[in-house]
Amino acid sequence: MPLSLFQKIKSAITVPQAAKVYGMEPDRRSMVCCPFHSDNTPSMKLNDTYYYCFGCGATGDVIDLTAKLFSLNPRQAAEKLVHDFGLDPDKPPANAIALPLPKRGLTDEQRADVAYCLRVLTDYLYLLHDWRERYKPTSPEEPQDERFVEALHMTDLIEHLTDHIAYGTPQQKADAAARLLSGSFLLMLEERTSRFATAKCA
Ligand SMILES: [Zn+2]
Repeated sequence: MPLSLFQKIKSAITVPQAAKVYGMEPDRRSMVCCPFHSDNTPSMKLNDTYYYCFGCGATGDVIDLTAKLFSLNPRQAAEKLVHDFGLDPDKPPANAIALPLPKRGLTDEQRADVAYCLRVLTDYLYLLHDWRERYKPTSPEEPQDERFVEALHMTDLIEHLTDHIAYGTPQQKADAAARLLSGSFLLMLEERTSRFATAKCA
């Protein structure tokens, strides 16, 4: 199956590479001051495939980062990345990549699995962070909103799973992703996130 333009960009440009080109200066732990909230100490972690701000919960992949930094829609952000990194969207990634790639030992499928798991987990985590603030009880008498309770119960687990997929050797990440994908948990999370994301827009 040919890769979509978005997939090509994501496999060619890491989040830290784009962040540096767009003026961020990651420290040795790949942390930067978050450009999306007033941040004096670095709260945003740049992983190869996604960023996550521990201060405001901002998260996404390299295309989301570019879109948000320059107020573009995803398609425009993709075009900007193609232009700024000299990618040729009509050639297969191997010929198109003008930048040194991070070392990888995984198959395309494994990398796609890892990226998919991360995307689902971080989307859900973003929702949990939102619920934790939005639905927190304002008085002790008030019955607790079930979304607030879910956020309390699930945040640690999801952060733990995200760490397993986000850190470690490529093989460890791929193994963690394969374990997650062998059950229905991730599908349940994805279904849940998309249901609430749609509900919010309605
Ligand atoms: Zn932030």
